[in-house]
Amino acid sequence: MKIAILAGDGIGPEIMGEARKVMDALNLPDCTIMEGDVGGAGYKKHGHPLPPETLEMAKAADAILFGAVGDPDCDNLERHLRPEQAILGLRSALGLFANLRPATMFPGLEDLSALRPEVAREIDLLIVRELNGDVYFGEKAIRTLEDGRRQGYDFMSYAEDEVRRISHAGFKAAQGRRKKLCSVDKANVLETSQLWRDVVIEVSSEYPDVELSHMYVDNAAMQLVRNPGQFDVIVTGNLFGDILSDQASMCVGSIGLLASASLGEDQTEFGTKGLYEPIHGSAPDIAGQGKANPMATILSLAMMLRHSFGRDADADRIEAAVAKALEQGVKGADLGGSSGTSAIGDAVIANL
Ligand code: ATP
Ligand code: MG
Repeated sequence: MKIAILAGDGIGPEIMGEARKVMDALNLPDCTIMEGDVGGAGYKKHGHPLPPETLEMAKAADAILFGAVGDPDCDNLERHLRPEQAILGLRSALGLFANLRPATMFPGLEDLSALRPEVAREIDLLIVRELNGDVYFGEKAIRTLEDGRRQGYDFMSYAEDEVRRISHAGFKAAQGRRKKLCSVDKANVLETSQLWRDVVIEVSSEYPDVELSHMYVDNAAMQLVRNPGQFDVIVTGNLFGDILSDQASMCVGSIGLLASASLGEDQTEFGTKGLYEPIHGSAPDIAGQGKANPMATILSLAMMLRHSFGRDADADRIEAAVAKALEQGVKGADLGGSSGTSAIGDAVIANL
């Protein structure tokens, strides 16, 4: 397994250091690790947030573990040189079209949820969001009509192959979990969604072990706060997924605990090429102070082992070790605790 580690800016190097410790503790077989500069660190060293050598490294790797980018020193640069461009560049260059964001309620953290504790306790879901299509990428403009009024428009579309590949990602993810897939659309009013639904149903014949349901997005938003425990995997388009995944993350609480994966087509023997990263940013306000919670990065490593390398047992071990550390009261500042970055990493390793 070839892994590219791109730590990036701010707390990136600190949290990545802890993920590295976990990798070492797991004793992964045939593991080659490469390290590259990205974000503000890439700009400062090589003049570009995604230097060509970093991109080549990412292409050569089976999977990428990404820290965070964002550096106040770079705020005044032209847009294409800003640190944030690195992640967009990687997604498009590597064809990463499926964004997976798990939302799991860790025992004892219910009070951090925006929901009532007894409702929050039931959350264990995964949102699979399409990343490369939908209304974000269609023809768009603000134009002036003949009568002088301005009109804005964005063309929403999905081609069937785009829906098919994200459907497969959703069904495969469900197979690795509780085998329930809910496809979220707005098929009662949108033709795009009608095609989406038809294709999801076609693809479902290849996954007879997965129970498929469909929900309109407005209802899904309501059900996510009313009874989130009913969901296992949600598969949806770019726009609906954008909204629902932020909603789901607030339902479980802290930013320092949430991991994500961006996956491409099957490229390895075991699974898909992917980029894995915590959902939080580079947190410049606490960088270099040893305060950052590395759990989201460590959980991103678990997702990598599961999705890119088929090492489900290792992924389960990491997730259980993080849950155990939380139960033992090992909590970072983001959770109202006082454990530092390396103490949290050590506690997770002790529980492996
Ligand atoms: P971005 O635009 O890159 O997502 P952001 O403006 O959303 O960045 P973050 O960098 O995610 O901001 O930080 C938001 C707040 O959460 C900050 O106060 C930061 O210190 C805190 N924070 C973020 N990640 C962590 C972490 N891993 N551990 C502790 N606190 C964190
Ligand atoms: Mg943010």
